[in-house]
Amino acid sequence: MGLFSRSRSTPLDGVDLVLADLDGVVYAGDGGIPHAVESLNTARRERPLAYITNNASRRDSVVASHLTELGLETQPHEVVTSPQAAVRLLRDRVPTGSTILVVGGDGLVFELEKAGYTVTRSADDRPAAVLQGFSPDVGWAQLAEAAYALAQPEDEGGIPWIATNTDWTIPQSRGIAPGNGTLVSAVHTAVGRLATVAGKPERPIFDEAVARFGARHPLFIGDRLDTDIAGAQAAGIESVLVLTGIDRPKHVLAAPNSSRPTYIVGDLRELHEPYPETIVKGDVTTVGSASVRIDGPDVHIVTEGDRPIDLVRAGAAAIWGTGRAIYGFRVPERLYADPFHRR
Ligand SMILES: [Mg+2]
Repeated sequence: MGLFSRSRSTPLDGVDLVLADLDGVVYAGDGGIPHAVESLNTARRERPLAYITNNASRRDSVVASHLTELGLETQPHEVVTSPQAAVRLLRDRVPTGSTILVVGGDGLVFELEKAGYTVTRSADDRPAAVLQGFSPDVGWAQLAEAAYALAQPEDEGGIPWIATNTDWTIPQSRGIAPGNGTLVSAVHTAVGRLATVAGKPERPIFDEAVARFGARHPLFIGDRLDTDIAGAQAAGIESVLVLTGIDRPKHVLAAPNSSRPTYIVGDLRELHEPYPETIVKGDVTTVGSASVRIDGPDVHIVTEGDRPIDLVRAGAAAIWGTGRAIYGFRVPERLYADPFHRR
């Protein structure tokens, strides 16, 4: 071992469960993301790997077959869906066997019936709770049934309302469409109540995944700071932000305390590479061969280094380390240059 070499660990060292988001991490629309399949297959040889999805319209087995087609051998129990997390929440509030009003599709009905609940579509059946998740078939009539069932506030004896997730939008092959959050909001407007949320960025979906595998050192991989990384952090799980999806280097630099990843990678190959240490000396922060200096409101690049990802890591560590908000800084454009592959 040379004088300057250190034994550095990879983001996967000591991890006993890898949890991955899907869109922006594994695939983008119809296509796989470069290096995702090989890197995840390699990770899975050493420890369990599971996928977390907020999308409530597909069953776990459907997601598992899709992933298997992409080259990621996946069993249904290796997919954790927001309907499963929603049913986990429901079990704490409403006894099995109760009648539940469903606003949503097959993914939700399947999980409810599997857990021993009876499904209704009518508020007249005096349901014990309302469960709401996205399905392309949800229309005014279903939303109205939910509103009728939820007319009474919960603290006045009203029934629980659980939403699988509150993503405002959902990407479709023809563009961006209203997501479950938009539909939940329509019911909220009618009843003035707030739903309990099961999916990211709330904890229940992470808790469901960790409990299912009995994990002690899970690692979550996502592409969005405000849902994936914030959710993992809230659940006490270390996280990797991968720059192959929604969020870009400029978002990383600006990330608030509540949504800062443990690791930042350009693509998933870096899961298996030693992760460089962040070294802070005075006002200079160094990662690999990239160094950044903070001087009052100015962020200076001291050395750009030979790996763009290390410059992002150094810039983020330097800015985050000040405890000050991004708005107070003058940041050179080179620091948030974006040579990384995205959808
Ligand atoms: Mg995603």
